[in-house]
Amino acid sequence: MDIHGLIDGLNDKQREAVAAPQQSMLLLAGAGSGKTRVLVQRIAWLIQAENISPHSILAVTFTNKAAAEMRHRVEDLLQTSVQSMWIGTFHGLAHRMLRLHYADAGLPEGFQILDADDQLRLIKRVVRALDLDEKKWPPKQAMWYINGQKDEGLRPHHIETWGNQQDEIYKRIYQAYQETCDRSGLVDFAELLLRAHELWLKHPHLLRHYQQRFKHVLVDEFQDTNSIQYAWLRLLADADNFISIVGDDDQSIYGWRGAKVENIQRFLDDFPDAHMIRLEQNYRSSGTILKAANAVIAHNSGRLGKNLWTQAGDGEPIKLYSAFNELDEARFIVGRIKEWLEQGNALKDSAILYRSNAQSRVLEEALITEQIPYRIYGGLRFFERQEIKDALAYLRLLNNRQDDAAFERIINTPTRGIGEKSLQQIRQYAREHQQTMWQAAENLIAEKLLAGRAANSVRSFVNKINELEHEIEDLVLYRQCDVVIKSSGLHFMYQSEKGEKAQARIENLEELVTACRQFENTEPELSDLSAFLSHAALESGENQAERNQDAVQMMTLHSAKGLEFPLVFIGGVEEGMFPSLQTTEESGRMEEERRLCYVGMTRAKQQLYLTYAESRRIYGKDQYHAPSRFIREIPAGCVSEIRLNSQISRPAAVGRFSASVVEDSFNQTGLQLGQRVMHAKFGEGTILNYEGSGQNSRVQVNFDQVGSKWLVVAFARLEVI
Ligand code: ATP
Ligand code: MG
Repeated sequence: MDIHGLIDGLNDKQREAVAAPQQSMLLLAGAGSGKTRVLVQRIAWLIQAENISPHSILAVTFTNKAAAEMRHRVEDLLQTSVQSMWIGTFHGLAHRMLRLHYADAGLPEGFQILDADDQLRLIKRVVRALDLDEKKWPPKQAMWYINGQKDEGLRPHHIETWGNQQDEIYKRIYQAYQETCDRSGLVDFAELLLRAHELWLKHPHLLRHYQQRFKHVLVDEFQDTNSIQYAWLRLLADADNFISIVGDDDQSIYGWRGAKVENIQRFLDDFPDAHMIRLEQNYRSSGTILKAANAVIAHNSGRLGKNLWTQAGDGEPIKLYSAFNELDEARFIVGRIKEWLEQGNALKDSAILYRSNAQSRVLEEALITEQIPYRIYGGLRFFERQEIKDALAYLRLLNNRQDDAAFERIINTPTRGIGEKSLQQIRQYAREHQQTMWQAAENLIAEKLLAGRAANSVRSFVNKINELEHEIEDLVLYRQCDVVIKSSGLHFMYQSEKGEKAQARIENLEELVTACRQFENTEPELSDLSAFLSHAALESGENQAERNQDAVQMMTLHSAKGLEFPLVFIGGVEEGMFPSLQTTEESGRMEEERRLCYVGMTRAKQQLYLTYAESRRIYGKDQYHAPSRFIREIPAGCVSEIRLNSQISRPAAVGRFSASVVEDSFNQTGLQLGQRVMHAKFGEGTILNYEGSGQNSRVQVNFDQVGSKWLVVAFARLEVI
């Protein structure tokens, strides 16, 4: 594309940003105003019009998915590969830096990344090893503390506790945890950033090298950078290179994880020459959606303030559905998606967003029932599934015997008769001798310190791993993975579990082999086991099995940042859900929650549905929530409420046939929606739905004990209670 093509169709402000002379820039603008688009075209412009080599560009985005998309779009514009451009998330880039300079960073070559689960498990062990009471010093709390300190760039020796006993103890846990990680070559997510920062501080020649290399550094979603990320960027900046940031203070939603929206102000102070550009035209959403989102966010104070407008027409009103319970809500959403599909639309153009991951299960079930394919981003991540973690733990231990977390996970998976007692013994020995668990196990065997049966079992485990190592030595990556899954006994173990779940686990294990193969194809030079393991730890479910299939997109509101869809559902818009309970209880967090609502609403292009449930089952108990305050903050004219002309409740069949007609024939059965009934076999439950009439009428009952079932009324002998 010639350079005019890169600015055609942009508005004046956008063009100014894309075609600006080489300089640092700050692009501050609201949702859907084209920030990401400008960033992409700016990169293409720098390469095409300013002759900057892709090698000299570093781009930072928030998710791996966004990074892949950005690279793809630049390549599309330029019709050439930009392989040498560095583009990724802060974590991904820091990881790359540490792999390249592992020795300078004080890490072993095969260092491994600890994901959140492994980190928590390790912290638990540390807390126990320090003889601390887990109830008083919850490992989860310690994890927050450690990550929080790291996000601020602090090592234990930097932390001043001023004699505060609580801080003193957490600091000790941090210290002991870090020593364990260092001894075993393990790096948690926060450590990636902190170490990459320290790498440059300690090795100025490396910093200099990267300063000279990266002439242009561009950062999307800047409002969600934390202190250590900002410090890293700040170090990279130098007299001869330029930093451009793109962000929206109204979309800062990671404050709870240490992100600092104040970094925007800091950037202005630190880079006084940066050229500031504001964009005000929204190209994404209909007039109604934009008006509603603007009205909601206007309830926040202390905003930098902006005035987003659109040329688009008003479009459809936002639809609000008050569901009877979460099952009804799910069925309603799935019903609308079916209509969307029947109208000739693609599933991938629809998205269901929710506040917490746990909400997905009921929605998933409703989609499965209707045989509608879906994909989940984040949350239920492929690499976090139990069987995958088991297989990866084998690969990790094979790759690095010092990986205690992996050792613990698989020493008795599949079961080998190694009980908690033997495990305790190994742990204790490791602790006392300052060794890894692997070494401790070997030594305990050599010194004949384990009881007879346990000794045999531990020995056979150690032998198994050593044999496996030989077995896979000369194989390519995907064959290694295949052999390990089979020879370890994992495949057999899950196969003998039977049932659908076990089947899914087997399929997942097989998919892991496929993932290895794909990895080999995309990263031919880097495709050894340890590179793949890092990839697996960093990959956040953005590579699911259903990759090429048209599917509904499901994700938390947090993961939806930066994305857009023609049809969007936000479920669970209730007080206590969204805003979440914690937010309503802790002061100062409501504004962030409202920003999250703004992010969610502004994902929608044409149609937005908000749904809430009058009752919702949480941890097995029915809870009753009021509609969210955010609904009240939307101007009345923007919303149309979906109601049925029934006084009893709102059947899920809404829209397919007239509710009142069905209601009448249903009423002849003497049953009502929402009624509590008793069944001789299934016990008590609540009527959720019905279909058919007379002899054929069926009801769906959600039984307290056995879940939901469809029953023929004539035979069910339901008793009203
Ligand atoms: P967010 O804050 O949600 O990340 P954003 O500011 O990054 O939003 P983009 O995703 O870049 O916005 O753009 C929103 C939509 O508007 C995209 O579909 C984009 O292609 C489109 N768009 C942006 N600028 C223009 C333009 N000048 N003409 C037509 N469409 C545009
Ligand atoms: Mg964007």
